[in-house]
Amino acid sequence: MHLPPDSKLDTLAVHGRSASDPLARKKAHDAVPTPIVCSATYTFGSTAELRDHFEGRADREEYGRYGNPTVRSAERAIAALEGAEDAALFASGMAAITTLLFAVLKAGDHVVLTRDVYRRTRQFVTATLSKFGVESTLVDPGDLAALESSIIPGRTRLVFTELPTNPYLRVVDLDAVSAIVRRTRGVKLVVDATFATPVNLRALERGAHLVVHSCTKYLAGHNDVLAGAIAGDENLVSLVRDVRGVLGSVLDPHAAFLVERGMKTLALRVRTQNESGARVAAFLSSHPAVQSVFHPSLASHPDHEVAKRLLRGFGGVVSFRVRGDLETTSRFIDHCRLATIAPSLGGTETLIEQVALMSYYGLSTEDRLALGIPEDLVRLSVGIEDVEDIIADLDRALRAAVVCAEVA
Ligand SMILES: *Cc1c(COP(=O)(O)O)cnc(C)c1O
Repeated sequence: MHLPPDSKLDTLAVHGRSASDPLARKKAHDAVPTPIVCSATYTFGSTAELRDHFEGRADREEYGRYGNPTVRSAERAIAALEGAEDAALFASGMAAITTLLFAVLKAGDHVVLTRDVYRRTRQFVTATLSKFGVESTLVDPGDLAALESSIIPGRTRLVFTELPTNPYLRVVDLDAVSAIVRRTRGVKLVVDATFATPVNLRALERGAHLVVHSCTKYLAGHNDVLAGAIAGDENLVSLVRDVRGVLGSVLDPHAAFLVERGMKTLALRVRTQNESGARVAAFLSSHPAVQSVFHPSLASHPDHEVAKRLLRGFGGVVSFRVRGDLETTSRFIDHCRLATIAPSLGGTETLIEQVALMSYYGLSTEDRLALGIPEDLVRLSVGIEDVEDIIADLDRALRAAVVCAEVA
């Protein structure tokens, strides 16, 4: 099947693997979806075939840590969705990020991170890479001047940012960041676009060299698999893929099948979640038991204008502060029936968490506040259920939890 080169996103979501490999289906025994190929190793008919493989004349697999046809197919689908030359899949989002950083950084290099990147990304850079002589600077996502002055010509290799961020959905001005990064030779811009997805953000078209996804979230989208991906420039992806073969941070073919299957409905799901997210944010904004709401769709959000320029949709994650203390907020969450208590986001199910009790459990009130996490903060990942049901669930739980006098 030859996919027309001007195919739209919804078409690419379903047929993306065929975009760069028209023979994909033929190779897969004419099965319509990609079959799961369970093989740790691959046989060669003769030593001549082996030579052809090592000299790059054959399109085939060799050993499971270096590649797998089901994984390759899902990688092609991600590349098509991102409009990237190539993509690589990993055992989790963190496997993608750590393998990428190990692949491109060496002792003496410097990396710039926006401060509110995923907590484990920050931890890996500041606590692990630092042991290998990699230095880092954390900058505020809104402070472009600080970002620019933190780049050390000749030493800074990467600027790593994320958008929208967790839990306040900050949207860094990617156009400005990419202009800054591209002024210094040799610096690469990496964007973790897990919250945005390729439906809402065209990160590579906006100047990123590489885009990163925790496919665990929206890409696979069903809360049933862990996976991570990078997509972008062919040489860069191939460099990271080689290091994946050394570290062994590979994705299992069963998981790759779930990622590819999940992505077929990505555009449908994300459009629904964009709409429902904005509806829920508007509802919460006018609720007497809620003190503030964070969603880029709201005019009150500090990055609303930037988000309107960069994003095609504002996403399905909404954060908000309940009127009340730690206990009141817990009571509200315990009263939710449809919204399910769990970490993670981006799946079909609506998930809810009290941020202080999830990612920041072991900390004191003061330490949490110092990190910008009040105890009444809730993060909601809106699923694909009927938005009226989601709103009714939140309304009932808020009214049950927050002292009636305040709400009345
Ligand atoms: C969840 C997440 C990750 C890590 O992904 P895993 O698949 O859980 O390893 C990285 N970045 C962002 C923005 C995330 O939300």
